[in-house]
Amino acid sequence: MRKTPRLRPIRSAAASRATNFTVQTNFVIQLADIHKIYRTGEVDVHAVRGVSLDIAPGEFVAIMGSSGSGKSTLMNMIGCLDRPTNGSYFLDGLDVSTLDRDARAKIRNDKIGFVFQGFNLLSRTTAQENVEMPMLYNHHRVSSTEQKERAAKSLELVGLADRADHKPNQLSGGQQQRVAIARALVNQPSLLLADEPTGNLDSQTSIEIMGVFQKLNDAGITIIMVTHELDVARYTKRMIILRDGKVLTDEKVADRLNAEVELKKLRQAQEAVKLA
Ligand code: ADP
Ligand code: MG
Repeated sequence: MRKTPRLRPIRSAAASRATNFTVQTNFVIQLADIHKIYRTGEVDVHAVRGVSLDIAPGEFVAIMGSSGSGKSTLMNMIGCLDRPTNGSYFLDGLDVSTLDRDARAKIRNDKIGFVFQGFNLLSRTTAQENVEMPMLYNHHRVSSTEQKERAAKSLELVGLADRADHKPNQLSGGQQQRVAIARALVNQPSLLLADEPTGNLDSQTSIEIMGVFQKLNDAGITIIMVTHELDVARYTKRMIILRDGKVLTDEKVADRLNAEVELKKLRQAQEAVKLA
């Protein structure tokens, strides 16, 4: 990588007023000395204390650390849900650390897909309609035919094409999380963010969901996932451990697990129990 990024000329007056600019970069994410201080009444909470990270396209990263170490705070900034108090953040080469609420919403819709622990599906609507939802907010107009096609394709990607007409209460937890992943993918984001995506799932279903993430990552999607379970983090490629709002370790996953292999082992073990 070039040491000093070359600046592209600022094109519009609006862009110049916003003082945000674009650099040539090989990274999806570049965080430089990011801080977040929550000012709540009398005490300030310094939740993130100088995090610098580069994440390249195609990476699959687990962010770990004990409760209160700053994982969600960091993810909220990466996801443009919140702004750092200090430091710079380039997303796809665009300086997003200074953008206002509306500009951040637009960036989120364009570039980022979110998956949460609690699935956050609309209960009275079908899987298909849930997946179509983000396209209703897309400022690039998507025709209703294209919406249907893209939602169907997303559901197919997560292995749920045959459940498109089901409502959340007709689906298992793992299937609901797959719908949520399909919804996160439907605007073709450059980045998928997941905060404790397996937190509400049993261990076998968790492996199935990691299998979905591995398949998507193999297809080129960059994924950042918060988890506190080492078993789950071992399916990723890179593990970052936070402590007290700082990066404690940042390492390649040496003994990486493959979800398909692990699920096969589980099924064989279950068969063996049945036969015994
Ligand atoms: P984690 O996700 O690793 O459990 P968080 O990022 O949620 O950690 O929290 C980091 C620290 O920041 C904690 O001390 C937490 O209490 C504090 N914190 C988180 N969100 C807020 C907020 N909105 N206002 C004030 N303090 C917060
Ligand atoms: Mg958290």
